[in-house]
Amino acid sequence: MTWQPVIGLEVHAQLKTRSKLFSPCPVAGGSTADLAPNTFVDEVILALPGTLPVPNAEAIRLAVRLGLALGSTIDRRSQFSRKHYFYPDLPKGYQISQYEDPICRGGTVPVFLDGALRTFALRRIHLEEDAGKTIHDPRRNESRVDLNRAGVALLEIVSEPVLASSEEAIAYLKALHRLVVWLGVCDGDMEAGNFRCDANVSVRRPGEPLGTRTEIKNVNSFRFVGLAIDAEIKRQIELLERGGSVVQETRGWDEGSGQTRALRGKEDAHDYRYFPDPDLLVIDVAESLIHAEERALPELPHLRQRRFVDALGLSPYDAEVLTQDKVRADYFEAVAARVEPKLAANWLINDLLGALSKSGLDLVQSPVLPETLAALIAHLTAGTLSSRMAKDALQALLQGADLERWVAEHGGQVSDSAALVQVIEPILDKNAAQVADFLGGKDKLFGFFVGQAMKALGGKANPEELQRILRERLAARRSP
Ligand code: ADP
Ligand code: MG
Repeated sequence: MTWQPVIGLEVHAQLKTRSKLFSPCPVAGGSTADLAPNTFVDEVILALPGTLPVPNAEAIRLAVRLGLALGSTIDRRSQFSRKHYFYPDLPKGYQISQYEDPICRGGTVPVFLDGALRTFALRRIHLEEDAGKTIHDPRRNESRVDLNRAGVALLEIVSEPVLASSEEAIAYLKALHRLVVWLGVCDGDMEAGNFRCDANVSVRRPGEPLGTRTEIKNVNSFRFVGLAIDAEIKRQIELLERGGSVVQETRGWDEGSGQTRALRGKEDAHDYRYFPDPDLLVIDVAESLIHAEERALPELPHLRQRRFVDALGLSPYDAEVLTQDKVRADYFEAVAARVEPKLAANWLINDLLGALSKSGLDLVQSPVLPETLAALIAHLTAGTLSSRMAKDALQALLQGADLERWVAEHGGQVSDSAALVQVIEPILDKNAAQVADFLGGKDKLFGFFVGQAMKALGGKANPEELQRILRERLAARRSP
């Protein structure tokens, strides 16, 4: 009998707020790794006696925004609790989190899997503060604490145990990552640890109740999450088949061995002695805030992705690429409003994005604006530029050239039949032997004539017209 894996994910997304969750202390921008330690701290972060937490309204707004986008129920009266544990990177001796009354409950994450739109159920989304960082230095046998991250606002997004494979888990994470960045809730920087995930894994026989789970902590790349989940599923199945049993515990992912390994026994909720934080009032989420966020929600990425396929006729692949981020989707739509959407998609994906990444630029920094790319494509469809010339023109535009001036200087494409005849006739005269061979059945020589004519026109001939007229003139030389 087979085993069925069951996975539930807890994602920690750092909220894009300027200050920390309970104090005006600024949050380090960009990658915190290079900053001097303990420079983004204040008396609240250090937990000096007499300090009190004040909730950050922007963090609450962003939590409401994400909850609305995921179809969660926003709790109008949610509350903060203290979660107690002792570790050097937690100066208060407790973390302020939410336990009984999280700000959002339920909802689903929409995910495209093999072209079909699926939804995965959420349990809750809650606000909490981050801890600091402990850096171990085995050479000097010392540990140091950096509190730059301490107190930073996080959202913990908790799924139901509804994912059935590492592929589903990765697709879920990518969809959630795209959404939080799209909404401006989180910058999504996984290397900096601003979007990280704990994976809960168990296995069971089909139809049986959930098995005992282990939790793999803090994996911060999509690939490693997948590898860690697969390794853990395999470990549990082997253990159970040998007659053993899974112990509920926290495990870590070891990249070197490609295995998970036990870190510590899993605490139960009562070990944390949760209770409502008496320093903080119940958060009263105003109806007006919910309405304002609802009205301001942009078209969500999965809906836009589907619209690109259904209404604009793009392939599912192109629609996915073009909805990777909002800047890209907006850019594409600005081009597609002016020219055929499929051409717009091709030029953006195959030409512009590639060229930009070669020069290390993001699309927002593109020297070629959507209107200009559209005008370039329009020259192509009108026949004033061949596709070869259009590609050259794009390179020139990336160097700062003006499109219309470039087209004027480099001449339009020659499609005019009189002009083409003028070039073709002398070539046929000069190559009488080849003409005779061609007419005698050597079809391959056609390419030779095309090449000669193209050369004479500096590559600017409209290829279809050139071939049409060439066939016509060659046929005219057949002796009656
Ligand atoms: P805790 O608060 O101790 O981390 P929760 O019960 O809130 O535990 O669940 C945390 C995560 O673990 C959720 O994402 C949930 O879906 C997942 N989970 C719970 N039970 C299982 C299980 N048996 N197998 C896999 N995942 C599970
Ligand atoms: Mg947990």
